[in-house]
Amino acid sequence: MGTLSITHDICIRNTSCLEVTVPDSALQEIVCCMGQPVAGNPTQFMMQRAFHAAGLDWCYLTLEVAPDNLADAVRGLRAMGFRGANITIPHQIAVVPMLDSLSQSAEMMGAVNCIWQQDGRLIGDNTDGRAFLESLAGILDPRDKRVFLLGAGGAARAIAVELGLAGAQKITIANRTPDRANELVELLSSKIATSADSIDWQDNLPIPEDTDLLVNATSIGHLEYDAPIPLELGTLSDETVVADVVFSPPHTWLLEEAERRGCTVVNGLGMLVNQTRICFQVWTEREPDPQIMLEAVEEYLEI
Ligand code: NDP
Repeated sequence: MGTLSITHDICIRNTSCLEVTVPDSALQEIVCCMGQPVAGNPTQFMMQRAFHAAGLDWCYLTLEVAPDNLADAVRGLRAMGFRGANITIPHQIAVVPMLDSLSQSAEMMGAVNCIWQQDGRLIGDNTDGRAFLESLAGILDPRDKRVFLLGAGGAARAIAVELGLAGAQKITIANRTPDRANELVELLSSKIATSADSIDWQDNLPIPEDTDLLVNATSIGHLEYDAPIPLELGTLSDETVVADVVFSPPHTWLLEEAERRGCTVVNGLGMLVNQTRICFQVWTEREPDPQIMLEAVEEYLEI
């Protein structure tokens, strides 16, 4: 089928327009993001820009999927021949048993953020940890460092495993639900022999004195700029590097407080661009232009 000359402008949030062409292939390749809440996630905007720049006639959908509908939604991916999917909050762990096989890293982490379909089989991978580590490059080498990790969900698991594999000296995990923190400690100790412990997260948790890297991998602050994290910020040293995985908004309450105390901070945008780039490679076997993705996310988030 030849290229049609008709084009449409899809205006997103009335601020930025993305030009898309009418499909020129007989059947477009479809990929998607499934999560809840997922409205306002910039990945669709970044991916569409990158597909367009690479000359790929692919379509990325953002789908709000409630936990009770996840199994049906995964069956739908398979039935409708989606090429792949990103899995986000809160489904990264729940989706694991619904897949046919896992990459080595997803298997180790017990969490999946990227699925691809091959010959009718759904394969789960996890690119979050690699993407997080790449976002630290040039700022902090995790080798022999002490990490204080907030959260024990999908993103926290991925980050903890990659930090462990990168030689972190010790990882201390604080989570609202202690059982999930203990599970992650067990995973780190048994699968990668990383020294790890958990601490009970009560209101206003003190930050261990010798922390080199503090990571917020909870969803506190997601779509909510002013949401405070219950930490005793008086115990935060200006020598600690502070990272927040929340990307919307990119400048969170935690990062603002850390900057005020003289810390080096790392926002969630680098991780987002890196993991979006890696998923693009996995699905298309092509290299996207990361600059296009970065410009797209900055435009979408108006920064
Ligand atoms: P999950 O639902 O798997 O985990 C959420 C985590 O946040 C759990 O540890 C949960 O604790 C904790 N949490 C949620 N609300 C609260 C609260 N009010 N008080 C204390 N703890 C809380 O989500 P994900 O791990 O998939 O995602 C976490 C965050 O990371 C999201 O904001 C997501 O957008 C972001 N993310 C960013 C990426 C990037 O590229 N920058 C990539 C992936 C995720 P509990 O176990 O007690 O429920």
